[in-house]
Amino acid sequence: MAQGLLGIESLLREEIQEILDRARDFQPREGQSFRKYDLLRDRMVVNLFFEASTRTRTSFEIAAKRLGADAVSITAQASSVSKGESLVDTLNTLGAMRPDAIIMRHAASGAPHFLQRHLGIPIINAGDGTHEHPTQALLDARTILDRGAKLEGLRVAIIGDIAHSRVARSNIFLLSKFGVQVVLCGPASLLPREMGQMAPGVELTCDMETAIRAADVIMMLRVQLERQHSAAFPAGEYFQFFGLRPEHVELAKPDVVVMHPGPINRGREISSEVADSQRSAILNQVENGVAVRMAVLERVLAA
Ligand code: ASP
Repeated sequence: MAQGLLGIESLLREEIQEILDRARDFQPREGQSFRKYDLLRDRMVVNLFFEASTRTRTSFEIAAKRLGADAVSITAQASSVSKGESLVDTLNTLGAMRPDAIIMRHAASGAPHFLQRHLGIPIINAGDGTHEHPTQALLDARTILDRGAKLEGLRVAIIGDIAHSRVARSNIFLLSKFGVQVVLCGPASLLPREMGQMAPGVELTCDMETAIRAADVIMMLRVQLERQHSAAFPAGEYFQFFGLRPEHVELAKPDVVVMHPGPINRGREISSEVADSQRSAILNQVENGVAVRMAVLERVLAA
């Protein structure tokens, strides 16, 4: 962790628990804004995003500023990458300006790991291709804990485009470290069998009702068309087979928590009735994104 945060896979359960506990300290009180701290005064972070983002980039920026750090955000379109500069050169250039950490999103799986080996500055992975999105899994865990007592023994159904989801991967790593029963569900073309071997006890099913029955948490995923070379499932039929509707939610535990990392596509993977229902924690996830990223930045930068 001293070297940044590249993924959940390499974290110990105790380290994850520490981040989740610290994030709770940063959660705002009802109706209030996030408190401003002085913990990272004189520190500077650079947000370098080579892929689209609303939630992650903004919340890292807010998290850094709430801790008293300076934050600069750069998108690929606005960087010299669009003039042909290589990734290593871009990172070396930014590194020469001496930021204390670089928060990075990239379409290539493993890009932050590769750069971490070249650069002496901690890198925080804000999503690398189809590999990991560690802060998403952390904020998801914080959100589940906020609605219940503990993770152990819960049944979590993750439904949608499993194959291309870094959110699913990071969540499988995290949840399995806490003894959660994970069920992965999606069209067969988007549900690689190997993902059932990522951790002991991970189930796979193409049937939504089987996945949802008695679930404590339902995590819906967007179909990542930008990562598919050809359509893996007929778009017109997707909602009929894999779209979350009120009748599905009835099959889960009465206090089920419905989650989605966003951006949501209403009428494709989730109905508006469910997305806007009492059971939906989608906006709690966004709010927890700031608190969790404050905890991660503090951990990386205060080290
Ligand atoms: N925002 C999430 C990610 O960056 C999920 C998504 O894009 O569908 O992976």
